[in-house]
Amino acid sequence: PMTDPDELLAGLDREQREVARALHGPVCVLAGAGTGKTRAITHRIAYGAATGAFQPNQVLAVTFTARAAGEMRGRLRGLGAAAVQARTFHSAALRQLQYFWPQTVGGPAPRILESKIPLVAEAASACRIKTDRAALRDLASEIEWCKSTQTAPEDYDSAVAKAQRVPPREAAEVSRVYAAYEEHKRDRGFIDFEDVLLLTIGVLDSRPDVADQVRAQYRHFVVDEYQDVNPLQQRLLEQWLGQRDSLCVVGDASQTIYSFTGATPEYLLGFPDRYKDATVIRLVRDYRSTPQVVGVANALLAAIPRDTPAGRRAARARLELVAQRHAGPPVGYTEYPDEAAEAEGVAESIKKLIDRGARPAEIAVLFRINAQSEVYEQALADRGVPYVVRGVERFFDRPEVRQAVLLLRGAARSGGTSDSAAAGGAAGAGEETDDGLAATVRAVLSGSGWSPKAPAGSGRAREQWESLAALAALAEEYAVGHPRAGLADFVRELEERAAVQHAPVVDGVTLASLHSAKGLEWDAVHLVGLTEGLLPITYAETDEQIEEERRLLYVGVTRARETLQLSWALARAPGGRPSRRPSRFLDSLREAKAAMTEAGAGGVVRRGSGRGPQEQGKSKRTGPVRCRVCGKALIEAVDRKLGRCADCPSDLDQALFQRLRDWRLEQAAEQS
Ligand code: ATP
Ligand code: MG
Repeated sequence: PMTDPDELLAGLDREQREVARALHGPVCVLAGAGTGKTRAITHRIAYGAATGAFQPNQVLAVTFTARAAGEMRGRLRGLGAAAVQARTFHSAALRQLQYFWPQTVGGPAPRILESKIPLVAEAASACRIKTDRAALRDLASEIEWCKSTQTAPEDYDSAVAKAQRVPPREAAEVSRVYAAYEEHKRDRGFIDFEDVLLLTIGVLDSRPDVADQVRAQYRHFVVDEYQDVNPLQQRLLEQWLGQRDSLCVVGDASQTIYSFTGATPEYLLGFPDRYKDATVIRLVRDYRSTPQVVGVANALLAAIPRDTPAGRRAARARLELVAQRHAGPPVGYTEYPDEAAEAEGVAESIKKLIDRGARPAEIAVLFRINAQSEVYEQALADRGVPYVVRGVERFFDRPEVRQAVLLLRGAARSGGTSDSAAAGGAAGAGEETDDGLAATVRAVLSGSGWSPKAPAGSGRAREQWESLAALAALAEEYAVGHPRAGLADFVRELEERAAVQHAPVVDGVTLASLHSAKGLEWDAVHLVGLTEGLLPITYAETDEQIEEERRLLYVGVTRARETLQLSWALARAPGGRPSRRPSRFLDSLREAKAAMTEAGAGGVVRRGSGRGPQEQGKSKRTGPVRCRVCGKALIEAVDRKLGRCADCPSDLDQALFQRLRDWRLEQAAEQS
């Protein structure tokens, strides 16, 4: 692992280095998308550990999704700081709660409610309120908002008014269902996600001895995506800190996209006021995206109207991005007659990218609501393009994966051969053959009806198949690294991975909602369904809600490293009435497009030496994966990932050089 502090700093620019060096007291990093916030804080933690300023196991790094936490753990491991805890607020709280439960609350351990919907349904019917699925979802999300903002049922009415929130149901109804829900939940011995935080806060509040223990364990706190912290999470953070101030927060107010759950950028923006001695650092260089993509992102925020309080607030928070990368392909804008045509068109363009050598895992289709996913699943499946819905979060919790792990464990116990019933009679492939382990795993998986050939069509069956295919691929990968390993070793590996939700990389095109795409990046991003009613979504009514929709689009746009394709469809069904209008946000983007073209002609857009858009396209077409600089075929995985060979440093701009270096260091760390 990398423990040389200077090397850690070498991977950062001047401002990022300032972040890494600010190891004492409160630190606040305000910066736009792709400027290296997440990178700066992971390096800061590793630097703190390497210089002895931090004890790695006394650092708690908090993010908002399991996937982001997993990625951070991976990065920290690569930087030699594997002992640092990187968790979501929920998982950190839950661990503490479970640990202290016997000595504080006592009694049986709490059962966590995975979804509020069933109990909300019960509560609604107890209140004699008729509901359908949409209503249940609305009620559940209002209850989540109430709990995250610490609003009691009886205060709901005044709280929504104060927050200028448009209640989706009559306020009195929400209050009643909320109160009934709490009662039902208590009676059944469940706690929900917000209760995990509430109870942890309660324990820390009321038991100074417990609070002391937690504070002795964690002395340094780092929060990524701090713009999306809600009041409950903020309180927990303050409890963890106590009177201390070793807190580093990073965020981008223009990426606040969870205010419907009570999140607010006020904590981020108000940080320098709350901590007068805070070190405040701004990053502006965008290392992720091409100038074309950055141009669109900047234009989107520049177009925020200033004639409303919501707009003025949003405009104040905006940070201009300065592109660092070489020019890439132009941003695409495509109008389709209907949704099916849009899905076909997008799938076709994705297929072309893959045919030219792009890795499916480096491509994403992003949409506003999950229901939009299905046509894309179908269109990709029709073309034989592998895909993953909503990334790989909670991979090991999928029923088919659980069942497969059970099967594998059973087969491992019985020596991998005799339990032929469970293994579908095919586990006898044994572990002596050439690709022993992988063949055994495939054989066992076939016992649950899996076959190496993908099923036709899309939907759940296809998703299940993809999960099992990912397990089979993982077995292959594992067998390469561990040539002597047997099934039992592989099962142990799976169990370890499951414990930390370390999902295998499923090599497929990602289909994800804009909300779940936060913090992630892909080479090619297709933003689909850009019509009025979808983005902004129909129920976005207030100025504030419209601004949040704009931020969602901003998050989507800034996920793209190179290729960005924006599209929309004028009708829902083929031959249907063209009842949809292109999203209002597109107007400002198209103006930007015109401006970009002019800027390009005027030489403002930085162009690489011979690496303009045409060259890139050409080199991709001539072979599976070739160096973008010299055109040589790439064999090393490191080079393929980068798209150029290590012998071409002259043309590597700083950003790419660092990436290569990071990646090598990560590899080296993993091997050692
Ligand atoms: P977001 O707001 O979307 O979360 P971010 O500010 O956290 O973005 P990162 O994800 O840390 O940005 O970085 C974006 C990309 O730029 C990553 O691929 C990262 O490795 C790269 N990058 C960041 N800083 C540098 C740097 N100094 N040199 C080279 N590459 C960098
Ligand atoms: Mg980030």
